Amino acid sequence: MKTPGDKICEVEEYLAGRGAYVDEDGGVYAKIMGNPSFNQTERTVSIVPPPRKKIPGINVVGSIVYGRIFQVLNKLALVQLYPYQTARFRLVPPGTIGAIYIADVRKEFVEDLRNEFDVGDWIRAKIKKVVKKFYPQLTTVGKELGVIKAYCPYDRTPLVRRGAELYCPKCKRRFKRKIAIDYGDPKLPR
Ligand SMILES: [Zn+2]
Repeated sequence: MKTPGDKICEVEEYLAGRGAYVDEDGGVYAKIMGNPSFNQTERTVSIVPPPRKKIPGINVVGSIVYGRIFQVLNKLALVQLYPYQTARFRLVPPGTIGAIYIADVRKEFVEDLRNEFDVGDWIRAKIKKVVKKFYPQLTTVGKELGVIKAYCPYDRTPLVRRGAELYCPKCKRRFKRKIAIDYGDPKLPR
């Protein structure tokens, strides 16, 4: 799976098709979340999003969801949920927002949520609770849940895993995160 900003190939190899773009460095990058599809005849690569289906609302506690962190406060993080849908996981309508409270990040005590998530992180979470008029409450407790992809806030380089932390290969900074076990190469459910 590719997330926005992931490099797919060089423009000499394939031109950017739907869901992809060419950057100044001559690389072809994903514009949306999905899997690359190469067209050998036209020599283009497109990003094919996961199947979508309109669903009236979130009502499945325990479902796995994917999304991108767009706000981090010290006790609450907000996630733009991605409308991902498979045979086993029926998910959210476009535009749905989820909330992660500080107690639901990991098993251990968390003092500041800003050491766990950052804006732009892609995460895998589980729906914990749905209460009308409130954002669905998510949890990232468990080794398979947490950040699956993150970028350096200074230079946008994809961060790599180093032990329990993330590391920027470009500027050499280290970052704390609640990472999922398959960070960097996430497996999507089927
Ligand atoms: Zn960096």
